[in-house]
Amino acid sequence: MDDSSSMDSVGEGRLDGNAVGGILAGLFGREMTAAPGRCAHCGTVNEMGAMHVYMRGPGVVVRCPACGEVVLRVVETTTAMFVDARGAAFVRIERERG
Ligand SMILES: [Zn+2]
Repeated sequence: MDDSSSMDSVGEGRLDGNAVGGILAGLFGREMTAAPGRCAHCGTVNEMGAMHVYMRGPGVVVRCPACGEVVLRVVETTTAMFVDARGAAFVRIERERG
């Protein structure tokens, strides 16, 4: 399988790989585009940077590129950040090496 390219034309509301990386880094406090996550719907593991991310309404929606189901949903309010991760079986975040 080829690695997916962030040079693909982006569809309606869909963010490119760089924007995804920025959002994920903001959420998790580190570079996350290479972090693998497993879709709870179809079981496919994809790097976070390969997921399809849409910015619509009040939040960010991360969808599985294989089945199109929602993996992560993030909504920020003035006081908190809500992360709905029920569509993710896991997201692997490497420990930072000191
Ligand atoms: Zn899936």
